Amino acid sequence: MPTPMFTLKNNNYPWHAMLWQQLMKQHANQHLPHAILLSSQPHAGIEKLAERLAVRLICTELNDDSACGECRNCKLFAGGSHPDVFILEPEEDSKVIKIDQIREFVHKITLTASMASCKIALVRPAEAMNQAAANALLKTLEEPAGDAYIILSSTEPARLLATIRSRCQQYAVETAANTLVEDWLTQSGNQTEKVRTAILAARGLPLLAAEYLQGDLLDVRRNVGIGYLKTARGQADLMAVANNWVTLKQPLVWLWLSQWMGDVARASLTGEACKDPVSEAVRSARPNFPLETSLQLQSMAMQGWRSQEGPLRQDLLFEQWLLQWAQI
Ligand SMILES: [Zn+2]
Repeated sequence: MPTPMFTLKNNNYPWHAMLWQQLMKQHANQHLPHAILLSSQPHAGIEKLAERLAVRLICTELNDDSACGECRNCKLFAGGSHPDVFILEPEEDSKVIKIDQIREFVHKITLTASMASCKIALVRPAEAMNQAAANALLKTLEEPAGDAYIILSSTEPARLLATIRSRCQQYAVETAANTLVEDWLTQSGNQTEKVRTAILAARGLPLLAAEYLQGDLLDVRRNVGIGYLKTARGQADLMAVANNWVTLKQPLVWLWLSQWMGDVARASLTGEACKDPVSEAVRSARPNFPLETSLQLQSMAMQGWRSQEGPLRQDLLFEQWLLQWAQI
């Protein structure tokens, strides 16, 4: 059984609402372009929006502006086996969409639609196309064969070839306001206080905040914060802290360190208090924290984050970082 790729329940995010209305209005007026580039900040479900649009375009039993989820087209789509829907994404073990995938699609799309009234391609994430693949798609983007829609989604549209961008109509999802994300997460049964902490930890990125609410990630983050603050106060055994961090979700530890140092750097520039209590503790104890030092520590944390797949020992990297941090 293929994994269901689409369910009506989880693809309708409130921060997509405005753009969705715009797309539906254009569709109703028969002005929906055939080459569409959807973009958003990361962790905002842009690929779900693309799926929602795709299934809306092939559904035969529409329910207002939504696909019904029940007709044959909807069901085949949900099962990932609709013959008129092409998913172009990196194949297993690869990070790029290759030219062969595009060529195969370009050939197939010229055949007439077999079931739905149109053919759809979802290119995701669009920035995963290597240059050859992107070039191979250009002509089809300019003149999609028959009634075809090519829907690209991206959280990094600036990385796309300018020629790809210029051939698509571009739509950007607005950054989700924290209040909107907070309402959405509390409505799904989470405690307000916890939701606010999650939004803060996720720096406002809605689906990342939702992830923080699953499992014990927020507790892990809080404990890392305690080790980080104790180190700065000279109250921690660096090796013990480093050894503890190695056992945690390491890429996230580096990400948090980098976020906290970024907060401190920003506070030195603006003089404003930090929203994150961990960063605020540092800022209030050291209001004149040298900008250069915070930037240097942030850059070290980013290097640690990138070193995950490398040969360097993580415990030593953490120790090195903590040693610098302890000297502030
Ligand atoms: Zn349907």
